[in-house]
Amino acid sequence: MKALVLERVGELSLRDIDLPSDLGAGDVRIRLHTVGICGSDVHYYTHGRIGDFVVNAPMVLGHEASGTIIEVGTDVRGLKVGDRVCMEPGVPDLTSRASKLGLYNVDPNVTFWATPPVHGVLCPETVHPAAFTFRLPDNVTFAEGAMVEPFAVGMQAAKRAQISPGDTAVVMGAGTIGIMTALAALAGGCSKVLISDLSAEKLAIAGGYPGITGINIRETSLQEAVAQATEGWGADVIFECTGAQAAMHDLFRIVRPGGTVVFVGLPPEPVAIDISGATARECRMETVFRYANVFDRALDLIAAGKVDLKPLLSGTFAFEDSIAAFERAAEARPQDVKLQIRVDTESEAE
Ligand SMILES: [Zn+2]
Repeated sequence: MKALVLERVGELSLRDIDLPSDLGAGDVRIRLHTVGICGSDVHYYTHGRIGDFVVNAPMVLGHEASGTIIEVGTDVRGLKVGDRVCMEPGVPDLTSRASKLGLYNVDPNVTFWATPPVHGVLCPETVHPAAFTFRLPDNVTFAEGAMVEPFAVGMQAAKRAQISPGDTAVVMGAGTIGIMTALAALAGGCSKVLISDLSAEKLAIAGGYPGITGINIRETSLQEAVAQATEGWGADVIFECTGAQAAMHDLFRIVRPGGTVVFVGLPPEPVAIDISGATARECRMETVFRYANVFDRALDLIAAGKVDLKPLLSGTFAFEDSIAAFERAAEARPQDVKLQIRVDTESEAE
C-alpha cells in the first residue's frame, strides 16, 4: 500500500511498500483518517536518528493517529466495525516484568510506531491490538483524536506531578509538549500555570487559554515572575519541557520548599542540575517516559469540554501533500503547534 516512507536522512517518498497486515485474534484493522506530525518524525527526517534509534532502512513515519475500525479479530470485545478510534502507538509485551509492575511504558521490549525499525502509520490501513485502541466519544473529532498522543505526554507529566487542587505550576517551554502539559496540569487541578519561552508567538497561543499566563524570558526574569505570582514562596510544581541547560539553572530557584520538579524535556546531551538547591528545598523529582493508562482519561477530558485541543491545530495537509507537510514542519515556524495529515479523503470530514 502507498505510504509516506523515510528512505534515509532528508529523503521522503510517497510510494508503495509492503506492510504487515495479518490480523491476530486480539487485533483490529483500522482505516487511518488523520495522522499528526510529531517532533520525533521531523527529527528522524532531518537527522536520521534519535539517541540510540537510528534509521538504517526505509521506515514509514507517523504515530499520532485516528481512524475507523474496518475489521475485528475473533477475540475482540468492546470494539466493532465502524467505531471511530485513536490508537496508543506503543505496544508492550504484556507478559513482561515491566508490564506486570504496571510500568508498561518502560518495557524494554515495547514496539512503538515510527521508531526504527518499526513502521508508523502514514498509510491507508494498519493492524493494532484492540487493547491499545480507544473509541472516540461522539463529540471528539478525528483531528482531536490524533492529538491525544501528544496530549498523553502532558497527562503523564501531570500524573507524575501528583498535583493537589489549587497548585500553582510553572511550565518551562511553550512548544507543543509544553502547552499540552500546561493544559493537563490545569485539568489535573492546578489553579494557574505560568509558561515560559523565548517565542512571543508560542506564548500568545499558550496564553490564549484561561488559567495560563505566558512569561517571555527575553523580557522578564522567570524567577521574578514566579516570586510575584506566589508571594515569594515558589511554585508547587515545575514542569521542565525544554531540555535546555539554561533552563536547569533556574529550576530550584522557582520551586517552593517541598515542591516537585517533573523532567519532561529530553536534553540531547547530559546537563548539570543544582542538587544542593534541590536538597535545600527537599524537592521531589520525577521523570516522564511517554505515558501509560492515560488515553481513555484524555478522551474523557476532551469529551467533557475540560480540555480543548482544537486551537492547537495549525494546519491540515492532504495525504498527497505529505512531503510538503514535512517540509513545513521542518521549518519549525513558531506559530505552528500541530500539523496534521488527512490520510482518508473518502469519509466525512469529522
Ligand atoms: Zn508524538
